[in-house]
Amino acid sequence: MPETKYKKTEDFNEWYNEIVELADLCDKRYPIKGMNVWRPYGWKLMSHVDKLTRDEMIKTDHQEVYFPLLIPESSFKKEEEHIEGFGSEVYWVTHAGLNKLEERWLLRPTSETAMYPMFSLWIRSHTDLPLKTYQIVNTFRYETKQTRAFIRVREIHFFEAHTCHVDFKDAEKQIKEDKDIAGRLFQKLCLPFILSKRPDWDKFAGAFYTISIDVLMPSGRTLQLGSIHQYRDNFAKPYEISYEAEDGKHKNCHQTTYGMSERILGALIGVHGDNKGLVMPPEVAPTQVVIIPIIFKGKEKTVLDSCDTLYEKLKNNGIRVHVDKRDITPGNKYYDWELKGVPLRIEIGPRDVEKKEIVLVRRDISEKKSVSLKSCVKIIKEEFRSISEDLYKNAEKFLKENMHRVKTVEEAKGLKGIIELPWCGKEDCAMEIENILEGNTLGEPIEHVECKNVCPVCGKPSKTWMRYAKTY
Ligand code: ZN
Repeated sequence: MPETKYKKTEDFNEWYNEIVELADLCDKRYPIKGMNVWRPYGWKLMSHVDKLTRDEMIKTDHQEVYFPLLIPESSFKKEEEHIEGFGSEVYWVTHAGLNKLEERWLLRPTSETAMYPMFSLWIRSHTDLPLKTYQIVNTFRYETKQTRAFIRVREIHFFEAHTCHVDFKDAEKQIKEDKDIAGRLFQKLCLPFILSKRPDWDKFAGAFYTISIDVLMPSGRTLQLGSIHQYRDNFAKPYEISYEAEDGKHKNCHQTTYGMSERILGALIGVHGDNKGLVMPPEVAPTQVVIIPIIFKGKEKTVLDSCDTLYEKLKNNGIRVHVDKRDITPGNKYYDWELKGVPLRIEIGPRDVEKKEIVLVRRDISEKKSVSLKSCVKIIKEEFRSISEDLYKNAEKFLKENMHRVKTVEEAKGLKGIIELPWCGKEDCAMEIENILEGNTLGEPIEHVECKNVCPVCGKPSKTWMRYAKTY
């Protein structure tokens, strides 16, 4: 039985680093730092998250595409802000075989510059719009800061939706749809989040504005899981993405993107886990139910047969189930599956077989109860709902308790989590607060919140609140 050295409640960061490997999510020993190997359990979890994302894309009429990994330098350089923002973070391909390339290629850090030259060929008329596409691919960024599994890596499992519209107004409708998608998706992942409009100096390179999707981790730091960008026609101009309008005039498209990454796994691990290991939300748990046979001498066959029958029954009802028949003690099995965060454990012993019952144990609250075999499918599905609700509620409570709206920097000092302070709109004032609080600006609330206070730095009237937090 592997021992966990760290407790989540005592040393969150070390606990996190340890649990990702102990629970078989990834292997960090690959000889390139920040490029980790996805192990089957971790990849299954990711693929279930991707499935939820794909379901949302299908529901909202997005088409899946798959663009090449390599981007020619000339395509990459067309949008000036974009190259400034990403230039120092990309990997370059300089040779093909023994030949030096005439033009360098880069590994996509994100795919605007791969897609948009093609969009300009695809879009001719207003009847081609809106164009709604997405892809789920690997992207690459040269991280110089300390890497952390799923949270800060150099090869990133990435979702990106790219859309083109007739005008700003139609693109704004897309932003609204993206916010709704995020709402539904993160509800299923039991992850409450906040949306903030990033300040101008911190928006995505080339964007008109950026909305970030942040969750609060137990360490009190926020983790950005995704972002939604309004590009206006900032990319359409250099990439010549235009269309013929109904009146025969040629106009530039307006564009949006919505991106998310494997950081979602980082949040699932961090937000829901406990000292015993992971706690998986049932929607995405690679295994939702594990059946543990409780073997007594002479009763082996009865118990194992009963486990197999139940396995078939649950599987046929769409439940991801596993029977653990390994020749180790039940206690060791409990330990392993608790570590992996399987939402429900079923124990079946000879007496349960006689009584036509099973013992059901919830991973999140360790609650144990006997239920009849006959009604178990219905009860298991109810338990899934109840586990999801509880995970969400707990995370929401933590988020609410750790969001503070205060008026002065003095009040903000020493507070953990997300701090909102009045803001006059000047970069210098926000920067000074960043320095004092040793945090970062997250942005302002996207819904209009009135602020009649003065800026705590310059004393001028404030129009809005600015959020600050320590971030990953
Ligand atoms: Zn100010």
